[in-house]
Amino acid sequence: MNSVKTLTTVAAFCWCAQVGASEAVHWTYKGATGPQHWGELSEEFGSCKWGKNQSPIDIRTENLLEVDLPPVSLDYRGATDSVINNGHTLQVNVSGDNTLTAEGETFQLSQFHFHSPSEHRIDGEAFPLEAHFVHKNEKGEIAVVGLLFQSGEASRDLSMFAESSPREVGKQSSFEHPLSEVLAIPLSNITTYYRYNGSLTTPPCSEGLRWFVIPVAATISAEQISWYIELIGADARGPQPMNARLVLHGN
Ligand SMILES: [Zn+2]
Repeated sequence: MNSVKTLTTVAAFCWCAQVGASEAVHWTYKGATGPQHWGELSEEFGSCKWGKNQSPIDIRTENLLEVDLPPVSLDYRGATDSVINNGHTLQVNVSGDNTLTAEGETFQLSQFHFHSPSEHRIDGEAFPLEAHFVHKNEKGEIAVVGLLFQSGEASRDLSMFAESSPREVGKQSSFEHPLSEVLAIPLSNITTYYRYNGSLTTPPCSEGLRWFVIPVAATISAEQISWYIELIGADARGPQPMNARLVLHGN
């Protein structure tokens, strides 16, 4: 019995921002170890409770700072290696030359993963799925591109992962494909996006991350979302206070 194969068109991954996250401390998305308590679970998780620049956020369009933002370009020439079900998300590990060029700097893709429902909201509205592409530059600074998926047709990109996604927590499956084949979403020269400074959305909630949130013209089906929720569970942290921050918007 291979229940994964019966869910043919499933697609949902979660690239959670696991970079630097401590896996030693058990945390979850609900109950006593849920997001409201992350900051108390470990001293390392203090930013989850005390941070002033936390992610995700609810992007309020009436408060945007409209500016001339330079285009963001993702140039992914490498390949995927494996898919991991770490209990918090489905994470896809990659190899090769996969760059994000933004704000005059070059970042290399570390991994990507998914959240359902979306973590970022726009005017209070959550989306069915958000993909996080986590990048680092030579200084170790992190830039995350968040892609917001709409409800609609099944996503071909996501369905490619479905058959390879491990059902069991902690398991990893081989998944070797050129990224150009896996990701059909146009990712070069993106001029419409939201830019703000935030944090990892998972413990230890480290700050100093550059966030680029992009409402892409990509869809995911209800069936695919059901598959993801059955496999991983809802894995979105709620919106965090804006405090003194601004969201820049380029058009
Ligand atoms: Zn994430």
